[in-house]
Amino acid sequence: SYRKGGYHAVRIGDPFAAGRYIAQRKLGWGQFSTVWLAYDTQSSKYVALKIQKSAQQFAQAALHEIDVLSSIADGDPSNSKCVVRLIDHFKHSGPNGQHLCMVLEFLGDSLLQLIRFNRYKGLELNKVREICKCILIALDYLHREVGIIHTDLKPENILLFSTIDPAKDPVRSGLTPILERPEGGTLNGGSTMNIIEKKLKRRARRAVANIGVRRDSMGVEAPKPARCLDGIDMRCKVVDFGNACWADKRFAEEIQTRQYRAPEVILLSGYTFSVDMWSFACIAFELATGDMMFAPKTGQGFSEDEDHLALMMELLGKMPRKIAVGGARSKDFFDRHGDLKRIRRLKFLPLDRLLVTKYKFSETDAREFLEFLSPLLDFSPEKRPTAQQCLQHPWLNLRSPDGQSNMDAGMSKLKI
Ligand code: ATP
Ligand code: MG
Ligand code: MG
Repeated sequence: SYRKGGYHAVRIGDPFAAGRYIAQRKLGWGQFSTVWLAYDTQSSKYVALKIQKSAQQFAQAALHEIDVLSSIADGDPSNSKCVVRLIDHFKHSGPNGQHLCMVLEFLGDSLLQLIRFNRYKGLELNKVREICKCILIALDYLHREVGIIHTDLKPENILLFSTIDPAKDPVRSGLTPILERPEGGTLNGGSTMNIIEKKLKRRARRAVANIGVRRDSMGVEAPKPARCLDGIDMRCKVVDFGNACWADKRFAEEIQTRQYRAPEVILLSGYTFSVDMWSFACIAFELATGDMMFAPKTGQGFSEDEDHLALMMELLGKMPRKIAVGGARSKDFFDRHGDLKRIRRLKFLPLDRLLVTKYKFSETDAREFLEFLSPLLDFSPEKRPTAQQCLQHPWLNLRSPDGQSNMDAGMSKLKI
């Protein structure tokens, strides 16, 4: 993909925007872009630099993302709505063409990494609650105040962050800014690597000294890259607005990543904000159990879509006939009675039983969690609670005893 129209190749130390941003290391990549940690020499902060592929359709997509991110930033001057902040954007010309670049606040590991870090065993419910609160603050803001549907909520697109500034705390964050491209020297003494390292260390020391001087004039805080290990303060932000759409200007019919896709999207019955609430519920389940709520597969004689609908009904009960037959694609899956055409025998296992038997939740934890979760998984989109309503739910403010897994918490309650 590093060819005309594709990614821009970056080397550590490369300058961007007339030298304002200096590339430090690669943070990640997606279908549209590579994302780099960069040092902003103007604010003495670290930022994430998203460098889009250069071809026309990618540039178009970046312009849309910039448009959405700008509206998000405009409506949230104090940057408190748990959504990634767009700091700047510009064009960068390279051998593969002209690339639109977005400068975003630097965030940490994704919830996917957090789930992996916990070896797919699920997080303590207290942590799940904190993360849920952040996502709901973001969704309430996006839906009610900005008027956009994210359409691609999933653990990968929610990043942790903490308020410790890596530029102020280079030792803890392990980051010292690189201010120019390291060159291999040919001087006497020491290997090339040694010389580079010495040069870098000298520069880093100078840079850190600089930061000390500018410390107080820095505006909005740039966070340290929150790592899964950091522990208790579980805060996060929603990212990746490449697929977000205005509620009154929807363009794609097929939205959302498979496992987080709402039933009305599969059935083509039309969608609105409540598709994000469905994905949110899938994420909450995954955080609490370590497993995806729905992981459909193509089988002999049925499609992935049909398996997905079957899995939903096995866990949530039968889909009301009216909803099952009401979409433009309903006939592909359901007969006129509202039964699946090719998957006849469903193995029903209600969510509360699943949580208790497979995931060892206590009866109380399961009941309380599902009081919060189940309404979000309503097959009729208009019955799902809004983010604003969810934020009022008492489950978010319950507390289990600290430091215990769901199972331990259940055991200790039993002992009492
Ligand atoms: P996709 O194919 O998912 O649409 P994309 O090209 O639009 O990808 P993003 O998903 O925005 O790119 O970013 C790619 C990766 O870069 C993310 O998964 C994440 O690991 C990292 N990343 C993105 N934004 C940030 C940020 N603000 N801070 C730290 N890392 C980030
Ligand atoms: Mg992404
Ligand atoms: Mg994207």
